Amino acid sequence: MQDRNTTVRIYAEWMFDGDDVVPGSGILLGVSGSHIAAVRAGANPEEADLQFSGCSVLPGLIDSHVHLCFSAGRTHAEVVEDLLKSDGDQLLQRAIKHAQQALKAGITTLRDCGGPTQVLLALRTLVNQGKLPGPEVLVSGSPITTPKGHLYYVGAPATGAEDVERRTDDLLEAGVDFVKLIVTGGNMTPESNRLGCQYSAEEIKRAVRCAERANRYIAAHVLNREGLRRAVLAGVRTLEHCSWRTGLVHHEFDEGLARLMRQQGQIASLTMSAPTWRKVWPEMGKLDPELFRDLEDRFASERQMIESGVRFILHTDAGVRQTPVGISLIYGLRAAQLELGLSSVECLRAVTGHAADALGLVDRGRLRVGQRADIVVVKGRPWQDLSALHEIRGVWCGGKRCV
Ligand SMILES: [Zn+2]
Repeated sequence: MQDRNTTVRIYAEWMFDGDDVVPGSGILLGVSGSHIAAVRAGANPEEADLQFSGCSVLPGLIDSHVHLCFSAGRTHAEVVEDLLKSDGDQLLQRAIKHAQQALKAGITTLRDCGGPTQVLLALRTLVNQGKLPGPEVLVSGSPITTPKGHLYYVGAPATGAEDVERRTDDLLEAGVDFVKLIVTGGNMTPESNRLGCQYSAEEIKRAVRCAERANRYIAAHVLNREGLRRAVLAGVRTLEHCSWRTGLVHHEFDEGLARLMRQQGQIASLTMSAPTWRKVWPEMGKLDPELFRDLEDRFASERQMIESGVRFILHTDAGVRQTPVGISLIYGLRAAQLELGLSSVECLRAVTGHAADALGLVDRGRLRVGQRADIVVVKGRPWQDLSALHEIRGVWCGGKRCV
């Protein structure tokens, strides 16, 4: 141990380090200021300031697609109504509340994928100035969409390549961390068509180039396979929802497209919002059966994609219908294990090490010396049973204990 700078030493029985379960037991983590100063196995509890027997440490979780200004109301219409009737102050208060809720579920990094730009920048500033304990928030601000397209009510409107480039520049100028581009219609906007596309591959490419010049990237909303194809051709980094939908209730995997995704290192960002929890939360199964009509097809195409070796991460899309920020990530991971045939370790990687890689966050996602001290302690071993994630015993965000 490099004790000199260590401000707190945490003992836990076991560790998942963001890549794998570390063999052996008796883990001692040294935290110095905002960073991890030491990691060691084979330690005794007496060596630590804080002892968590029967517990595991893991990196702070990353939910890479949420909407902190959305209310997670009962229906899509209710969520939109809650959004439109709230002023900037009310939305900021809601976003703050949701961010604090996330900490209680062990989430130390959130990527907000769309909401009013100024509200989200204000939230990010509060966290960065230390006025809120965390989690760290990455923001896209207003998503770029067509004038009556998906999420237009919080969108930055753009029609055609020139417009797309101008809006991308404006957002980057405002200081967003990445830009969200709405390539297809979406469920929350009845005026849009989720089977249709809003932008051509060429228009998407303009946004990609523009973001890359500023060292940023594009996250694209894609809810059908043609939109996915366009976003892949355009070189989009994270493919949100990454849907293989080819018809109303039909999804079909395409190996040629997957090959391109693998070659270009693109990331499928898969959505585990409330309707996907049907096997872990039976109440869900009593909801509108319409929601489940295409789930089998959806999961089948996603399983094929994962088996083909495409990089993927898991997110909640929290803030949308019935999907509160925070605990939804734990339900989502448990559902992903059952529905996508993933191991619990693969699920954990998708919200720690792999999520950090996907978002280009080199300072977190793994419990290593020099990384940000984003740490979660849970009772039990979540790689044996993911429901251990419900038993949070401590959360540190940038070295500060928040829970
Ligand atoms: Zn979303």
